[in-house]
Amino acid sequence: MKIVVLKFGGTSVGDLNRIKKVSKIIISYIKKKYKVIVVSSAMSGVTNDLIIKSKKITQNFDKAEYDVLVSSGEQISCALISGYLKSLGYNSKSYMGWQVPIITDLNYSDSKIIKIKTNQIMKHLKIGGIAVVAGFQGVNIENRVTTLGRGASDYSAILLSKYFKAKKCVIYTDVEGVMTTDPKLISQATKIKEISYEEMLEMSSLGSKVMQTNSVQDARLNRIDVHVRSSFTNRSGTLITKKNNIKNNKIIRGISFTKNDAKITLVGVKDRPGIAASIFEPLSKNNINVDMVVQNISANGSETDITFTVKNEDLKKSVKTLKKNNLFKYKKILVDDKVSKVSIIGVGMITTPGVTYRMFKSLSKKKINILVISTSEIKISVLIKRSNVKKAVAALHKEFNLSKV
Ligand code: ADP
Ligand code: ASP
Ligand code: MG
Repeated sequence: MKIVVLKFGGTSVGDLNRIKKVSKIIISYIKKKYKVIVVSSAMSGVTNDLIIKSKKITQNFDKAEYDVLVSSGEQISCALISGYLKSLGYNSKSYMGWQVPIITDLNYSDSKIIKIKTNQIMKHLKIGGIAVVAGFQGVNIENRVTTLGRGASDYSAILLSKYFKAKKCVIYTDVEGVMTTDPKLISQATKIKEISYEEMLEMSSLGSKVMQTNSVQDARLNRIDVHVRSSFTNRSGTLITKKNNIKNNKIIRGISFTKNDAKITLVGVKDRPGIAASIFEPLSKNNINVDMVVQNISANGSETDITFTVKNEDLKKSVKTLKKNNLFKYKKILVDDKVSKVSIIGVGMITTPGVTYRMFKSLSKKKINILVISTSEIKISVLIKRSNVKKAVAALHKEFNLSKV
């Protein structure tokens, strides 16, 4: 069976006109003899509004009810798409996560999919039906509704592609594809025609929200080619695929940046073996993800300053955990919640010397101070003042010739 999974993001289904437009796209695949599984996000803004409501009514909203609440936006968009397709004479049917079912683990608000049962939808596809599946949601073995994390309709689409062995998975969004950087920040950003899973994974996890991180990881593990394109134009998009399929290997493929980092410095920590573990263990036990870390030896050699970053939303909890921790002594804690991480990503840097130097040089030319550095084989990240992000990304975009297609 020639199955295609078509995922539509929030802006793509943002109003009734958009619902009609995406229905036309869906029909174009039916005309090409595809069996179509649609995955829809909530209409743009709806999930955010629901989250705000949960916070307004109480600071202590129940985790399980939170998922019932925030998953409801997808029910609206799926019903609208499916209802409209039916009015045009197509045999469409909406499916909430529990009706598929998409079975998840027992976590709430960030559940992982364990299994998707295919028989219900398969029966419907076989008789020529269209399945319109709610993204972002599932059901756990206690029969409760779960959600899969922000932006996770992408993840729903990738795992549906896996379980249904789809020939094609297309992520329709509000930009032409994966771009060299966020086009909302840098208008000279250009479309990347092909990108490897590894590079996409780095870009997503370093802040490019065009694809949700888990979804890229699962596409990579299952070798699912993913097409990212616009639902607003007919232009070809980006293919996310395995490295060997890519002909044009640039040194730097793209630039990502974050908006929600915070920096913590512990000043005057006694320098002795095991100190780092005694600082970071309680943080990890409290589910706080520490990202970049740097340790400076102080002038007298017996004390050190340790700087690291956490997500902004974890800052308060981190400071509380550190202050409660009596396994080590320090002079003071400094915090800065106005920092951002800017990263350059590309498999080409493995074989190209001088990339780090070019990055640092072009930032220094713009008088941008680097606070922390971290690297991997295919990325270099620097922490800078958030107010410098646009200047930094623009400089790096130019330095690595990313405006040239
Ligand atoms: P959807 O609702 O379709 O899932 P998202 O808002 O999650 O869309 O993702 C698309 C947005 O991602 C774009 O509007 C763009 O601003 C942002 N973005 C950030 N980095 C990139 C990038 N490198 N390429 C394309 N878009 C990016
Ligand atoms: N509606 C959900 C969100 O806003 C899921 C998604 O859009 O992918 O996070
Ligand atoms: Mg998204």
